[in-house]
Amino acid sequence: MKKLQLTTKIFIGLALGILVGLMLQSSPNIANSFIKPFGTLFLNLIKLVIVPLVFSSLVVGTCSLDDVRKLGRIGGKTVAYYMLTTAFAVTIGLILANITNVGGGFSIPVDASVEINEAPNVIETLLNIIPSNPLKALVDGNMLQIIAFAIIIGIGIVSIGEKGKILFNFFDSFAEVMYKIIGAIMKFAPIGVFALITPVVAENGPSVLLPLLKLILVVYAGCILHATVTYSSTIKIFAKESPLKFFKGIAPATIFSFTTASSAGTLPITMKRSEENLGVPKSISSFVLPLGATINMDGTAIYQGICAIFIAQVYGLDLSLGAQLTVILTATLASIGTAGVPGAGMIMLGMVLQSVGLPMEGIALIAGVDRILDMARTSVNVTGDASCALIVAATEGELDREVYNSTTKAIN
Ligand code: ASP
Repeated sequence: MKKLQLTTKIFIGLALGILVGLMLQSSPNIANSFIKPFGTLFLNLIKLVIVPLVFSSLVVGTCSLDDVRKLGRIGGKTVAYYMLTTAFAVTIGLILANITNVGGGFSIPVDASVEINEAPNVIETLLNIIPSNPLKALVDGNMLQIIAFAIIIGIGIVSIGEKGKILFNFFDSFAEVMYKIIGAIMKFAPIGVFALITPVVAENGPSVLLPLLKLILVVYAGCILHATVTYSSTIKIFAKESPLKFFKGIAPATIFSFTTASSAGTLPITMKRSEENLGVPKSISSFVLPLGATINMDGTAIYQGICAIFIAQVYGLDLSLGAQLTVILTATLASIGTAGVPGAGMIMLGMVLQSVGLPMEGIALIAGVDRILDMARTSVNVTGDASCALIVAATEGELDREVYNSTTKAIN
């Protein structure tokens, strides 16, 4: 029998997990006590490599973009793509929510047990990017600060020329070790995916999902629309390649992020697949992707746009066009400050609601199904990051088109 490819195995893990989750709906405790721990173990293994990987590969990535003009150009393209696609994503969310009247006819008691945290301030988030204590940033896993620190060290290394070689080689070798470890961890991905999805399905039975079915459908529709229309167009226009191959090549990361609801947790896989399946050079992927996992959240933006309208409609409030434009602006900025971990987008939704005077209590309405929404939005977040890496590589003339076009043979 032909050996199954890893993507296929991950997919089988996902399907089996959903099936077993459905079967365990009457006793979710079994899923939580016996299956979830394997998922947690797998996630911990992945988390283990995130900080060392992001730091070392970003230092190496910055060093590889050794001429300052190139660094500036790639940085500029990356940030512009991230911001524009995010603004576009919120707009799609708002339009869909308005057309479908997403919150119309909805009535459900608010879940009073949900704690609503104060949303962080945008200016504070931006100022905090430069860490006053870089070691603390590494220990706390503060991604934006780690990125800033790594870029600064990378620039330092190149600017001293020959003497910086030792440090460069050190980080280069360190990053290689991390890649090797990820490769080994990924062998367990099918089991990890199975163990992560089963408890989610077991806990979110029809009684939780049905009342909010319309909201869930609209968010999923928005995510699918954005991925298929926006990314397909940008790939076709800027990379001049077949979008289908892109979706196929990045599928392992997309599926994985769906089950983990964490862009940061998926980062090692996004990097590996972008390089091996899409033909993005390491110097670009190691710069664009860690940045994307931290600041680029198109799926989250779609969700925030839809939820803002949903909450306004449920409370019988009208969001004027001006207010909806404010939502676009705040959701785009909020995405920079949203951490790539499960549930972060819901906290940042608080900021979006605040900006247009919507009641924060609205968050409690959706909290029960947030995980289901989180899975979809995270998949879009991750896919969006990879699309940027592809486009930056293509426009820099550094995309390995041969690798890109052979993904159908070797997805794994
Ligand atoms: N879970 C998302 C991510 O990791 C962030 C969010 O909650 O929207 O990308």
